[in-house]
Amino acid sequence: MNHRQRLYLETMGIDVWIRRAISSPMPSIAEVSSGASESRTPQEAVEQMDWEALRRTVATCVRCELHKTRTQTVFGVGHLTPQWLIIGEAPGADEDRQGEPFVGRAGHLLNAMLRAIGLKREEVFITNILKSRPPNNRDPRPEEIAACAPFLKRQIQLLKPKIILAVGRIAGQNLLQCTTPIGQMRGKLYSYADTGIPLVVTYHPAYLLRAPREKRKAWQDLLFAKKVLSGVL
Ligand code: URA
Repeated sequence: MNHRQRLYLETMGIDVWIRRAISSPMPSIAEVSSGASESRTPQEAVEQMDWEALRRTVATCVRCELHKTRTQTVFGVGHLTPQWLIIGEAPGADEDRQGEPFVGRAGHLLNAMLRAIGLKREEVFITNILKSRPPNNRDPRPEEIAACAPFLKRQIQLLKPKIILAVGRIAGQNLLQCTTPIGQMRGKLYSYADTGIPLVVTYHPAYLLRAPREKRKAWQDLLFAKKVLSGVL
């Protein structure tokens, strides 16, 4: 099997295992299977995927241990040519059950925050750093974030948002590859990796539910992001 054929199978969501031994250059039928042999779709394959291939690959992902405890993956929801891309941390219990990000209490607040700046949920795209729920809502582990990162990267490449709003410390720190506390990240303009896409960090709606007095700062962050998008800043 040559490189192109292999890439094609991988793009179709078929994991390919190739024996490295020189004495057996062609894999047997048993070695080309749909998932039993290789647990990781290679990053290069993810980088070539279109939206549907990416969606299918995420749905069957076993790149980290979270596949053992999740109900289903949560790929993301919303407009496929959005101006705004909202990125949270990871699915919670409600999201794991429904297969959609931000559908619980924090999601209702996020919807209200979006509405406050004139955006409907359907107009933006919403996803998370992790596509699978960490048990008991614990923080994502570095190996889980690393395993999921190619999926989010490809989503961003395909969606081409005009602005990214990172909600919460985990999203902000991972998108910016830093350990800066959220209080210092918010209120500033960043750009995502080497894409030039502007990125603004704000508080996570779940935190705002616990600390409603911080809503004022989140409101300022949203207005700031809106100005960035309209070219005022
Ligand atoms: N919190 C998140 O960060 N993401 C969700 O999808 C739900 C809650």
